[in-house]
Amino acid sequence: MGRHFLQIPGPTNCPEQVLRAIAAPTIDHRGPEFAALGTRLLEKIKPVFGTTNPVVIYPASGTGAWEAALVNTLSRGQKVLAFETGHFATLWQKMALELGLEVDLVPGDWRHGVDTAVLAERLAADTGHEIAAVCCVHNETSTGVTSRIADVRAALDAAEHPALLLVDTISSLGSIDYRHDEWGVDVTVAGSQKGLMLPPGLSFNAVSDKALAAYETADLPRSFWDWKPILEANTRGMWPYTPATNLLYGLEVALDMLAEEGMEQVFARHQRWSRATRAAVEAWGLEVLCLDEREHSGSLTAVVVPDGVDADAVRATILERFDMSLGAGLGKLAGKIFRIGHLGHFEDLSLIGTLGGVQLGLGLAGVPVKPEGLQAALDVLERG
Ligand SMILES: *Cc1c(COP(=O)(O)O)cnc(C)c1O
Repeated sequence: MGRHFLQIPGPTNCPEQVLRAIAAPTIDHRGPEFAALGTRLLEKIKPVFGTTNPVVIYPASGTGAWEAALVNTLSRGQKVLAFETGHFATLWQKMALELGLEVDLVPGDWRHGVDTAVLAERLAADTGHEIAAVCCVHNETSTGVTSRIADVRAALDAAEHPALLLVDTISSLGSIDYRHDEWGVDVTVAGSQKGLMLPPGLSFNAVSDKALAAYETADLPRSFWDWKPILEANTRGMWPYTPATNLLYGLEVALDMLAEEGMEQVFARHQRWSRATRAAVEAWGLEVLCLDEREHSGSLTAVVVPDGVDADAVRATILERFDMSLGAGLGKLAGKIFRIGHLGHFEDLSLIGTLGGVQLGLGLAGVPVKPEGLQAALDVLERG
């Protein structure tokens, strides 16, 4: 009885209005009604990225938009600089390798964001400008660490380095402050199923003028992901193939909700939930994975379980006893952490329920935690 608590950091819960919009009958994607929808959406999507440039929308998961960012801007054998901030950064660089790029992956401890000091060193050493692109994951969903993209931009500018800046915002867009134009990002990659409060199935590339110029000479094979035919059809509100019509209905509702609330307020409430969650974790006597005060994620919190405890057993107990799904530790963090998603369609009482379930579940799973955790979160929420 009651509702399932889906508190993984994506896919997230969808607002009723979004689900109702998606349930409407599918229309002709080559007809005038669709063209009007497409035209509206392609404008309404821009402010969420902080851009006035085009945003390409794919009927695909976020992984597709990763590939699109690479194949539309880069050529075989070109060098890419990437940072091992966690599982998703590692997967993106693996894809770059598979596509025939040469990747310099800066090792990381999965507890910090992009190290801009190392970035500055690599850029300074690259006097021949061989690095064609710098790839960063804005919000590492596997660790709950948010990299400071404005500082990445500053390092590129200070080095007067012409590399493209490609950024994955799949779990930050619509929940953590992000500015495609202001931060000089060339391709921003995003997905529908996290901060945008939609089911999985849409992904995005926001594209700068510099990225469009790089497109002209990029020679990696591309077909489905090719920007040009999409951008051309988009001028008429259309797609070159069947778009995910019903998800686009939902996207319009979600974008209207975000616009009505205002992005500043959207970012502020996610930060507040993040602070409340950290307060609980610390009062329980557990550790947050992220080690840098400036990098705590607004969309999720990764919690380290004590040595000898299997985090997956804790999650299994919580699922069985309270019907709540929490995020697993990914890659080398498997069994060592669990992740609490506080993004998407969410509110204070859901956070309180989530943290209450985690507190009780930890106890049931034999992890001794101080019961003051939940109260510490309530105190943060009360202060506003
Ligand atoms: C979820 C996620 C992905 C993968 O996206 P899919 O939609 O599963 O393909 C990539 N990067 C980050 C940061 C993510 O959170």
